[in-house]
Amino acid sequence: LMLLCCIVAAAEGTLKYKDPKQPLGARIRDLMNRMTLQEKIGQMVQIERSVATPEVMKKYFIGSVLSGGGSVPSEKATPETWVNMVNEIQKASLSTRLGIPMIYGIDAVHGHNNVYGATIFPHNVGLGVTRDPNLVKRIGAATALEVRATGIPYAFAPCIAVCRDPRWGRCYESYSEDYRIVQQMTEIIPGLQGDLPTKRKGVPFVGGKTKVAACAKHFVGDGGTVRGIDENNTVIDSKGLFGIHMPGYYNAVNKGVATIMVSYSAWNGLRMHANKELVTGFLKNKLKFRGFVISDWQGIDRITTPPHLNYSYSVYAGISAGIDMIMVPYNYTEFIDEINSQIQKKLIPISRIDDAVKRILRVKFTMGLFEEPLADLSFANQLGSKEHRELAREAVRKSLVLLKNGKTGAKPLLPLPKKSGKILVAGAHADNLGYQCGGWTITWQGLNGNDHTVGTTILAAVKNTVAPTTQVVYSQNPDANFVKSGKFDYAIVVVGEPPYAEMFGDTTNLTISDPGPSIIGNVCGSVKCVVVVVSGRPVVIQPYVSTIDALVAAWLPGTEGQGVADALFGDYGFTGKLARTWFKSVKQLPMNVGDRHYDPLYPFGFGLTTKPYKM
Ligand code: BGC
Repeated sequence: LMLLCCIVAAAEGTLKYKDPKQPLGARIRDLMNRMTLQEKIGQMVQIERSVATPEVMKKYFIGSVLSGGGSVPSEKATPETWVNMVNEIQKASLSTRLGIPMIYGIDAVHGHNNVYGATIFPHNVGLGVTRDPNLVKRIGAATALEVRATGIPYAFAPCIAVCRDPRWGRCYESYSEDYRIVQQMTEIIPGLQGDLPTKRKGVPFVGGKTKVAACAKHFVGDGGTVRGIDENNTVIDSKGLFGIHMPGYYNAVNKGVATIMVSYSAWNGLRMHANKELVTGFLKNKLKFRGFVISDWQGIDRITTPPHLNYSYSVYAGISAGIDMIMVPYNYTEFIDEINSQIQKKLIPISRIDDAVKRILRVKFTMGLFEEPLADLSFANQLGSKEHRELAREAVRKSLVLLKNGKTGAKPLLPLPKKSGKILVAGAHADNLGYQCGGWTITWQGLNGNDHTVGTTILAAVKNTVAPTTQVVYSQNPDANFVKSGKFDYAIVVVGEPPYAEMFGDTTNLTISDPGPSIIGNVCGSVKCVVVVVSGRPVVIQPYVSTIDALVAAWLPGTEGQGVADALFGDYGFTGKLARTWFKSVKQLPMNVGDRHYDPLYPFGFGLTTKPYKM
């Protein structure tokens, strides 16, 4: 028996691809040589976790699984539940003939946002304001740890869209209307993945178990669609596309981003999922991107309008364009049948399949997935840790933009005194963690209320910050009489947008939601007020500005509302500068810095400062 075991071990030892001491290229070649066509095709398929049973994983050799838009194992699932769920799926993959590990991906786009108890960082629209690449890098590192806490090695972030029109419902996922800020913010990639060893410029890199594979998305021009309509057409010449929407990808690729997701949108009428010139010609051949290109959710289906009109054509066009991994995510048998039949008909050459699989395996090997495919609970205490919440709080206060401080000729209102008699906090956004976090939080479209995750609302933060003798009165929707008779020293009014995400966030009016405008009228008419706007983008504010004493853009700050109070009460100064143009009226849209007829309410780069009180 001893002898037998040694013979087996020796035979195992000859499996080059399993030997981490072998060079990467040799491991990939060795494994590719052993794979059947069905095993190769399986690597290219990503399915949704709800259909990823062990049987399906094994039968189709599925290469990847995702939690789509808030798909979680159970409400308030613990790291343990997550780790067990991911490991169950992984064990099925490991039990196949070649034991190729699957890679599990999730939308961790502002922290590990699908997971109960995770630290939710400000959405990108706020991070752009900070102009602080190092901060964003630290956020990437913290996010990676929280994602690993749940046994997941892959995040579909960052979104490096350059949002040119705030009517787009995904504008808050974009750091800025200015590509230079977006370029700076790609520093989140080494945060998520680890610092690229200089020799390896452009080669996908993930620095071990505390890091995750990142995904720059959505390639390319997602933020440039006509009137900001989601998944629509970006009409722009080459100079515009390469000058505005492409630059972020140079940085992402140079920093070793492991994967890039293709955009639903079209460029001058051609769907990006079918754009061979840009995906293969430019990204893979010219930029020398060596990681894998992933489709968006049913992105191949959406090559046609309506989606799935001609699936054969869609599969042909998408694979030919150069997409390596297909986020199918449910109809995997249909996809597998279709691609098989096209290979048989020689419509899709084997060389294209080999290119895709090689890239996918390169990322998996690079990440050490073959060596450590199963997760444990060693990072569980990272989820929502004190340290990460402190970091998020720092990010919140640096992401605030002070747009007005005192009426003309009057003294500045901010920073507010901590010691007063009685103050008013008004508006639903002051006491709603769901609103504060926005879309892509616990669920796809975001939530209403305080019970869905752990954090500090702005109201709670105000209460934490004022002197014990200051009486804080909260009213969700005060009428004018209530305000007048209350004899408040001053008021903090928090208004804004309800949460939303892609498809549902597009709008043409960009108003703050009711009763926001009437609250501003009722409060600011009779007491000194600071209005804090919680929104994913600039909104219509000009009609109210003259009645407001101080105005703060807080964007979508996430779970750490304490950062807002830190700045309001002068523990820290305001430092943020607009990374977007604040328009006067929606009639001006689209309007971006550098435009010929630039007439904003607050220009790009604007932001007042305050000095912190001595601490
Ligand atoms: C979004 C992507 C996201 C994917 C997976 C899509 O609808 O466009 O940004 O990564 O879903 O959830």
